[in-house]
Amino acid sequence: MTITREELTEIRSGVAKLCATFSMEYWRELDRERRYPTEFVRALTAAGYLSALIPEQYGGSGLGITAAAGILEEIHSTGANGAACHAQMYTMGTLLRHGNPAQKAAYLPGIARGELRLQAFGVTEPTAGTDTTSIRTTAVRNGSAYVVNGQKVWTSRAEHSDLMLLLARTTPREAVARRTEGLSVFIVDMREALGRGLSIRPIRTMINHATTEVFFDNMEVPAANLIGEEGRGFRYILDGMNAERILIAAECIGDAKWFIAKARGYAVERRVFGRPIGQNQGVQFPIARAYMAMRAAELMVERAAALYENGEPCGAEANMAKQLAAEASWQAGDTCLQTHGGYGFAEEYDVERKFRETRLYQIAPISTNLVLSYIAEHVLEMPRSY
Ligand SMILES: Cc1cc2nc3c(=O)[nH]c(=O)nc-3n(C[C@H](O)[C@H](O)[C@H](O)COP(=O)(O)OP(=O)(O)OC[C@H]3O[C@@H](n4cnc5c(N)ncnc54)[C@H](O)[C@@H]3O)c2cc1C
Repeated sequence: MTITREELTEIRSGVAKLCATFSMEYWRELDRERRYPTEFVRALTAAGYLSALIPEQYGGSGLGITAAAGILEEIHSTGANGAACHAQMYTMGTLLRHGNPAQKAAYLPGIARGELRLQAFGVTEPTAGTDTTSIRTTAVRNGSAYVVNGQKVWTSRAEHSDLMLLLARTTPREAVARRTEGLSVFIVDMREALGRGLSIRPIRTMINHATTEVFFDNMEVPAANLIGEEGRGFRYILDGMNAERILIAAECIGDAKWFIAKARGYAVERRVFGRPIGQNQGVQFPIARAYMAMRAAELMVERAAALYENGEPCGAEANMAKQLAAEASWQAGDTCLQTHGGYGFAEEYDVERKFRETRLYQIAPISTNLVLSYIAEHVLEMPRSY
C-alpha cells in the first residue's frame, strides 16, 4: 500500500515521540553493557511499528516499504538504533511470499502481535562467508522431520527470537546441476530446539548488536516447517534481499541525518579563536558535502522503495541505495567526529557510538565489493568475477 506524504509524516512523528522517551543515556548504558534494548523493542512492538509490512489479513498494518523505511530512518535519525529489531519487520517476507496457508496462519498473526519474535536469520557460515551456495549446514529428511547439522555465524538476535529462518543444504552440491539448487529454507522454532540440538554462543563485537554463533547437532525440524519447495530456498532468500537492502539503506540515511545535525549543532556553538568553529569554511564544507551525499543517497533509497512498492524489478536500485547510503552515513560520521575534535571520542557525545554502529553497513548485510560486483555484472554486463 502506498501512503501519502502526510501519512508518512504522521508515522514518523509518532516514531520520533516514542524514541524521545528513551534517552541517549539509555543507549549509552546498553552499549557499555552490550545489553539488548528489550524495553525499546517492546515499545516499538506495542505501537505496531514492527508489523508495518504484515498484511492486514494477518493482523499487521499492511503498509508498504516506504512506510517501513520511514520508521527505521526516523529511529536512526534520533540517535537510536533499529538493528535490534529491524529483522522482525522483513524476515517474515519469505514466509509471506513462499509459505503455505497453514504456515502463514500459524505464524504471521503472532508475529504481527509481537507475541512471536522472528528476528533471527541464519544464512552466513564461517567457511562459506559471502559464497552462500557453499554453505555446509545440512538438513536431511528422516520421516516426518529434517535432521539439521552444521553451524551458522553472525546470527544476530538469536537469543532474542522465538523463530529462526534457516537456510540449509538438502541436496549435496555435487548432486545438483546448479550450485544455487538444493538449498532449502526452514522456519525453526528455537524455543523447542534450544538444548535439543540447537545451541547459541554470543559474539562480543565492537557494536552492541546481540549477534551470535549457532550450532546444530542433530536438531530436528518438522517437515511441515519447510518453506515452499525443497531445493528452491536460495531463490526465496534472494527474493527477500531487496527489501532488506532498502530498509538498511534507510537506517543509514537516518544515521547520516543524525551525524549532520550533531556536527552542525556543535560547529555553530563551539568557539575557538574567538569565533564559532563553524564559521571556518574548513569546518563548514565537509558538513555541506556530507549533506549533499546524504540527499543524493536518499533519492536512490526513495527510488528503490517506489520500484519495490510497484512490484517492479529493483535489484540494482536496492543495491545502489544500500551502498550509497552506507557511504553517506560513514562520510557524515567521519565529518561529525572531526568536527567534534577530541570530544568526538567522549562517550557522552554519542558520536563515537554511532560512528562504530554505522560502519557495519559497508559489511553487512552485504559488503561493498559484492554490491560493486552486482552492478558490474548485472547492470554493466561485465564478466562475472566469481
Ligand atoms: C554485526 C553483524 C551482524 C550480522 N548479522 C547477520 C545475520 O543476522 N544473519 C546472517 O546470515 N549474517 C549476518 N551477518 C553476516 C554478514 O552478512 C557477513 O559478514 C557479510 O555478508 C560478509 O561475509 P563474511 O564476513 O563471511 O566476509 P567474507 O565473505 O569472508 O569476505 C571478506 C571480505 O572479502 C571481500 N570479498 C569476498 N569475496 C570477494 C570477491 N569475490 N570479490 C571481491 N571481494 C570479495 C568481501 O567484500 C569482504 O570485504 C552479520 C555480520 C555482522 C558483522
